[in-house]
Amino acid sequence: MKLINETKVPDQLLIDLLTDAARSLGMRIRTTNVVVKIFNKRVPYGTMGTAFDCHCVRWIKGSRRWIKTDKGAFRAGLCNTTDYLWNAERLFRTARHEWCHIHDYQATKSLSWSQTSMINRRMAYDRRPEEIRVKDYIEGAENKGLNKELAYESILNLAVWLEENNKHVVKHTK
Ligand SMILES: [Zn+2]
Repeated sequence: MKLINETKVPDQLLIDLLTDAARSLGMRIRTTNVVVKIFNKRVPYGTMGTAFDCHCVRWIKGSRRWIKTDKGAFRAGLCNTTDYLWNAERLFRTARHEWCHIHDYQATKSLSWSQTSMINRRMAYDRRPEEIRVKDYIEGAENKGLNKELAYESILNLAVWLEENNKHVVKHTK
């Protein structure tokens, strides 16, 4: 993947976790050229991630450069919390969810129009067809035994890093 890392977490820790999140779905996802941006959230709540069906993004702060992406990009946030394991797990879950959307974009099952249609706007978030599919993918993977235990190590590694570096990170965060 093409990682845009806005956090102080070392790239490799994020790449491992994001790769495991995609792998844990047991689906065909072309991860190599998907753009993934990880940012710091100031609060421990609210939207955690968003996926986009697109061919390029301009996501590097202060840069006007477009980055090509393989039918999809997503952003996900690390929270400002001292519950480190929860934070790492939440990032994993968010990434896993967004990878499902990327899967659909790449398989061109996405209904981009539905995101702007009036019908969809009136639909509750969890009733949207694309969100129901995501739920099915994750349940399907878990039923096959492909769950987050597969990513236990990368989740734990991130949690440990967050715990060891929390003070340092907070001090330097805007
Ligand atoms: Zn979603």
